[in-house]
Amino acid sequence: MGTATPTLETMYRVSTGKVQLLPLTKRVDARPLPEVKVIDLKQAEDISKKSAVISFELRHAIEEALQAKAGILIMLNRRGFSTHIRCTRCHKDFFCPQCAVALTFHQKDQALICHYCNLHMEIPSRCPDCQHPLFKFLGIGTEKVESELARLFPQARIGRLDTDTTRKRGAHEQILSRFRGRDIDILVGTQMIAKGFDFHHVTLVGIISADTGLLLPDFRSSERTFQLLTQMAGRTGRGNEPGRVLVQTYSPHHYSIQYAAKHEYSGFFAEEIARRRALRYPPFTKIINLIFRGKDEPSVHDRSIAFRNLLMSDRNSDETEVLGPAPLPLYRLRGQFRWHLMLRGFEVESMAGWVRTALQGLKRKKDVFLAIDVEPISIL
Ligand SMILES: [Zn+2]
Ligand SMILES: [Zn+2]
Repeated sequence: MGTATPTLETMYRVSTGKVQLLPLTKRVDARPLPEVKVIDLKQAEDISKKSAVISFELRHAIEEALQAKAGILIMLNRRGFSTHIRCTRCHKDFFCPQCAVALTFHQKDQALICHYCNLHMEIPSRCPDCQHPLFKFLGIGTEKVESELARLFPQARIGRLDTDTTRKRGAHEQILSRFRGRDIDILVGTQMIAKGFDFHHVTLVGIISADTGLLLPDFRSSERTFQLLTQMAGRTGRGNEPGRVLVQTYSPHHYSIQYAAKHEYSGFFAEEIARRRALRYPPFTKIINLIFRGKDEPSVHDRSIAFRNLLMSDRNSDETEVLGPAPLPLYRLRGQFRWHLMLRGFEVESMAGWVRTALQGLKRKKDVFLAIDVEPISIL
């Protein structure tokens, strides 16, 4: 395995001696790591005046890079949900007290819901921390970022790389070759631009919001954010000119962001592994995710409850927990509703056996599909 951002599971195996670590402590040609600057959007008051998405500091850095005719990458992790509640005064975000994943706003129920344990929380009319009336905040997409950049920098040539602009065959390569050939000054994109890009003329990477990743309802959201920021930092300063990274965020003190800014994997690992241990997440436990999906929501829901009952009637160990059923974060996907049950325990073999036995008791039904994900990589 060769990576700048090993997974927590892999690094944990290093700490237990199952995997040997061979560190490469220098960048290619001993180039310096880029300077990473964290921009606190709470302090960037102009964010609402001149532009809703690009702070003064980032704007200034883009101007400089344009003048120097350097390449600019602007990243927005669009796999964020526009369905969060945040206090507009103290910027408090809401997390599940049991699962520590972000709570998601559901219009239909007018509630904040945990996508792991199905906790429903009524939306308080005022922020519990500062008493300010609460507001929903809406996510922004890459298209919005592109149009903002066009408005702020009318002379710049701007390209966009995401699933919408790369649908056509060959479009992906075409956009990249235009950026490589310097027909595009600023390339805006989703995490598609984070990995493996090797453009020597890039000296500036701007991250519109590090928060979208942190607020994903997944226990790996901190790890993903650290990885993404580290990978994005690796996209700049690959040539003769030093690179810099500007990260915009409402959570400037979050440990993922702080350690990524300092290029400190070991610090991040120490903090994250302690959290995983305290919250009983992998690598300290094993997870099996059972996903029920179908066009008719009530029967999907019924099915997940029936399966939970089957599991509970044949409990073989007190150590394994059954969480849910809860709606999945992407709970409506391609016209289907999705609910899930999560098993968390220590012995994946015995957990799987338990599921197998319960499956035998489940009557066949055509309209609800069940997918079983053993040790899932992502829970969305
Ligand atoms: Zn508040
Ligand atoms: Zn929960």
